[in-house]
Amino acid sequence: MYKMGKMNAKAPDLKSIGCFVLDMDGTVNLGQTPIKGAKELLDLLHGRGISYYFFTNNSSKSPMGYVEKLERLGFENVTLDSIMTSGDVMVHYLKTHCEEAPKVYLAGTPELEAQFRQTGIVLEPAGCSTADFAVLGFDTTFDFEKADTLCRLAAQGVPFVATNIDRVCPLEGDRFWPDCGSMAAMVTHATGVEPVFVGKPSAETVNYILDKTGMDRSRVAMVGDRLYTDIKTAVNGGITGIAVLSGEISYEDIEQGDVAPDYILDSVYDIYTALK
Ligand SMILES: [Mg+2]
Repeated sequence: MYKMGKMNAKAPDLKSIGCFVLDMDGTVNLGQTPIKGAKELLDLLHGRGISYYFFTNNSSKSPMGYVEKLERLGFENVTLDSIMTSGDVMVHYLKTHCEEAPKVYLAGTPELEAQFRQTGIVLEPAGCSTADFAVLGFDTTFDFEKADTLCRLAAQGVPFVATNIDRVCPLEGDRFWPDCGSMAAMVTHATGVEPVFVGKPSAETVNYILDKTGMDRSRVAMVGDRLYTDIKTAVNGGITGIAVLSGEISYEDIEQGDVAPDYILDSVYDIYTALK
């Protein structure tokens, strides 16, 4: 018989959580279908004034695209402010690691470039001779000049940072795209320089969440269906990790893995019933 529910006796009670950070695919939706209980949970959180955010490691799209996607799934009360991306974590990282407005070379999509500029970050053009940081996003507009610029800056000793560690971005029907982790591996192969990755599962993601929400670590939970991204983020950042079995991982995967969630639940419906 599987043991479900609270796995770590020291973990905070679900009722004391003041901020839920939710993964999307596998957690609140499966493709175009909302997961049972997700809408009820969001309505309940909204009604009680408990914060909730959606976090994605995908830095290629603008947050507005996710608002529209969540609205299409039937979720109400989702605003631009509800969306967190690894691009936001990167902006936070750059601003907290540089005293003045950072000058950045960014290999990213036009959406990510716009997101950076809106926060006052100065972007240097491809071919630039120096920068405070060489930044790589999940860049679906990547080209040779960008690769050359990143490699040259990294080889010169400019700090090389990347938005997310993912090797592939899964698409419909078993297809995939090479993701930021694979693009970063090319730069590392050429230069020997390893990047700092800031999205899930890095503790930088939690630093960003805590700064944005102003919430104490003990009151923030990360909810997700992947052990080595969602739950590992919680472990690395010292927040509550809630694994849901509605997506990628099974109970056996958790038993065999070396990342321990604080809670194991069938789906977000169980959070809803615990809070109701
Ligand atoms: Mg997921």
